[in-house]
Amino acid sequence: MSEDTIFGKIIRGELPATVVYEDDLCMAFRDLYPAAPMHILLIPRKPIPRLCDSAPEDQALLGHLMLTASKIAAQEGLGDKYRLVVNNGEGAGQTVFHLHLHIIGGRSLSWPPG
Ligand code: AMP
Repeated sequence: MSEDTIFGKIIRGELPATVVYEDDLCMAFRDLYPAAPMHILLIPRKPIPRLCDSAPEDQALLGHLMLTASKIAAQEGLGDKYRLVVNNGEGAGQTVFHLHLHIIGGRSLSWPPG
């Protein structure tokens, strides 16, 4: 169950995290194993396991996450140079099954991603 992931535990305050933003719909904290100088995870409080599990009723929430990611990037001084990543499913590298946006920046980012 998504509530039982490490991110569910972070939301409930059962696991520590360096929180950089939170509101009634989502929270953001620093990735414990950063892939770049700036690596933040933005998660909805609602436990949606994967992006493909989201439903039409989640439209406003998903939009809120995108706008909030942009706000956090500005707050963290990333300017207009950052990348948002959503790994959907095990085959795409998802390891924590609670939807999250990676906000990555602080170094040059190559394309395509691996
Ligand atoms: P993904 O592979 O897309 O599911 O991303 C999961 C991310 O969670 C990885 O970047 C991990 O480094 C990160 N992570 C794992 N455990 C923790 C934790 N306790 N606190 C913060 N980030 C974590």
